[in-house]
Amino acid sequence: MSTCGVAEGRSAVGRPADVLVEYAHAAAEHGRAAAATGEVSAQIPELSRVDPDRFGLAVALLDGTEIQVGDAARPFSLQSVTKLFALCALLRDEPTAWEHVGWDSSGAGYGSVSELETHAGRPRNPFVNAGALVVTDRLLHHTGDAAGAVTDLLRDLGGEHVQRDRQVALSEAAHDHRNRAIAHVLAEHGRLLHGVDTVLAQYFEQCSITASALAVARAALLLADRTGARGPLDAGVVRRVNAVLLTAGMYGAAGDIAYRVGLPAKSGIGGGVVAVLPGVGSICVWSPRLDRTGNSTGAVAAIEEFARLAGWSVF
Ligand code: GLU
Repeated sequence: MSTCGVAEGRSAVGRPADVLVEYAHAAAEHGRAAAATGEVSAQIPELSRVDPDRFGLAVALLDGTEIQVGDAARPFSLQSVTKLFALCALLRDEPTAWEHVGWDSSGAGYGSVSELETHAGRPRNPFVNAGALVVTDRLLHHTGDAAGAVTDLLRDLGGEHVQRDRQVALSEAAHDHRNRAIAHVLAEHGRLLHGVDTVLAQYFEQCSITASALAVARAALLLADRTGARGPLDAGVVRRVNAVLLTAGMYGAAGDIAYRVGLPAKSGIGGGVVAVLPGVGSICVWSPRLDRTGNSTGAVAAIEEFARLAGWSVF
């Protein structure tokens, strides 16, 4: 079942909004077909209970146009998509936080312990788990509740239906050895302000945030607005976040996605991917089956197709 939201007048890159609605439906069909090949993440047991055939696509434009297809209004587990909003919340409170989390691309997996060791415990960027744990730790320092700060930011920007899923947080806490190992290496190198257990509990809570593709697309407009007027970050910070998203937002496939899609994007193992076209808008797609790099097969295929049809690219 597909539904369309608001679509009035002319829109992004000079195209009438009804043409973008057509592109969104075509992209969703493309994505649904590609989704047949992936596997739902088994990393967090509670996440594997999701219906693998769910598919939602939402486009939000700076001019107010919103397009929804399929399950665009149904909340899903954001997981690493929250890393993007946690970074934005931290940069609002601590604009110099880059020096603690880094901004380089990573040559290893997002959960690499060895890469962290190679660099004296300094994370490569805020989207590998080491960097995300440092972001959560520092955000906790500034706000007293990092997961709450990310939830609030998403609610402010994305609207209704932003929640936290306690069962997912507990399920991750009970099975996660890797993030615990990373947190201990960070602590050993003096990179954390709080204890390992405190940081991990906040991080798992943050990752368990649920929101719809529409809410995430709306929230990501803060990165689409080149003036910085949509959110708490100024224009220069928005540019930097987009640059690091392009080089590090899609796990080990960031280069491949930059080549194929050409948009800054962030994915999560819940099957969500959000991508931004600065000056125009954003698109978020949720499709739970993942490819070997941990990115949603259906979401990447749908975003690639939408970008191709609509001419969305930063290049
Ligand atoms: N909570 C998961 C972890 O930290 C998120 C993974 C992901 O979405 O990339 O391992």
